[in-house]
Amino acid sequence: MKAYCLKCRTKREIKNPESVTLKNARSATRGICPVCGTKMYKIGKRQAVTTSVSTKEVMKSWLADVPADKAFWSHDGRVLKNLEELSTALREMSDETFAYHVTPDRNDFSKWVQEVVGDYKLAAQLGMARTRAEALEAVAKRVASLRQ
Ligand SMILES: [Zn+2]
Repeated sequence: MKAYCLKCRTKREIKNPESVTLKNARSATRGICPVCGTKMYKIGKRQAVTTSVSTKEVMKSWLADVPADKAFWSHDGRVLKNLEELSTALREMSDETFAYHVTPDRNDFSKWVQEVVGDYKLAAQLGMARTRAEALEAVAKRVASLRQ
């Protein structure tokens, strides 16, 4: 395995390589430069298994209720705590209510999903939705895929 030697300013084969874990929980290979003897590190990738588990947990968290003080207060009086309630609200609200929250200048739904729920992908899709039907479709599909 090769790593960059800071002293030689070139890549060298690592001498006496050993696996270590760095402070930021990344794994690395540590050894010494065969030419100058300087310590060398080759930073490894994060473990794929850990990443996929945490990604799944994060995605599940997007379906959870948000704190009460971060709920979405819809213009028609609904108080929305999670994406499923947003999906229901979009299905049932009037186009006037939708138009109150989505104008050419702002999109309250997209903003709430991004800043409170934390689902950037859905927030981006909502940001592009110009009609209530498009927004509803985006949220309903996202909720269905997150539930899996
Ligand atoms: Zn060196």
